[in-house]
Amino acid sequence: MLTVINYHYIRENFDSIYPSIFGITPFNFKKQLLLMQNEGEFLHPNEIIDNVEAVLNSKNKYLLVTFDDGLKEQFDLAFPILEDIKVPSVFFVNSINFEEKKVSTVHKIHLLRSIIDSELFLKNIQKDFKIEFSETEKNKSHQVYRYDTALNAELKYILNFKLTFREQEAIINKLFNTYFNESEVLGNLYMNNQILCDLGARGFLGSHTHSHYPLGLTDTETIKFELENSKRFLENLTNSKINTVSYPYGTDETCTDEVSIIAQKTGYKLGFTTNRGSNIGIENHLLLNRFDSNDLPGGKNS
Ligand SMILES: [Zn+2]
Repeated sequence: MLTVINYHYIRENFDSIYPSIFGITPFNFKKQLLLMQNEGEFLHPNEIIDNVEAVLNSKNKYLLVTFDDGLKEQFDLAFPILEDIKVPSVFFVNSINFEEKKVSTVHKIHLLRSIIDSELFLKNIQKDFKIEFSETEKNKSHQVYRYDTALNAELKYILNFKLTFREQEAIINKLFNTYFNESEVLGNLYMNNQILCDLGARGFLGSHTHSHYPLGLTDTETIKFELENSKRFLENLTNSKINTVSYPYGTDETCTDEVSIIAQKTGYKLGFTTNRGSNIGIENHLLLNRFDSNDLPGGKNS
């Protein structure tokens, strides 16, 4: 059995005017890993690739630590802890941040939401894109995002369900550029080429696609490009093999069968979703389940 545990942001302090960035502190990260180390055995990604059937079908509890988004804080704060307690890991990065030197739209949204409130955000969107938003849809948004305030829920719903991701990109870029300097954010938020090479040499580097698009909701050409380009770019840059991919968002609609087939054809050996659960041998190797760290022992929801 293989249980995969995924992390995003890791920082000492998550304070911001409008909290929109969530994650784990280094202290709680270490605590959680030590807890899990008592329950199972952490594997190197290559050990899983080389023995995938045996690992998944085993009665032993095997574990894998993963990180999405290629954030610098993961290398600065989590990596030393992992080295210290001798736990291997995989860091899934988006090639757009390094090849095109662009901040991913998903992170632009996180950053914008940390400094402007949902009301202003919505006003800005409506100013440029007059979006119809009925009372029924408003109510629906409150149900879909029931843990958010009403306005936060409406904003998320409009961004995620009322706009194509290209429209979303256009809106967010405009807003982001009025509040942030892209190259400054790039340097602070993401790993650099040297770190990627270091991780690649250890077999700890994977693809999170090129642009962090919801693959299953795009067209075949985009899926191909996103999977192929990131693999090629990272392999050339780091002179190492990129065998693993984690799909952005990782939900059922973004991780379709077509996505898994293209990933396999592209040469990926393992693919990770965000479907909660351990893997017991019945799974498609390109659509493996993965827990958010909050949902495992030592996490916020456990
Ligand atoms: Zn991501």
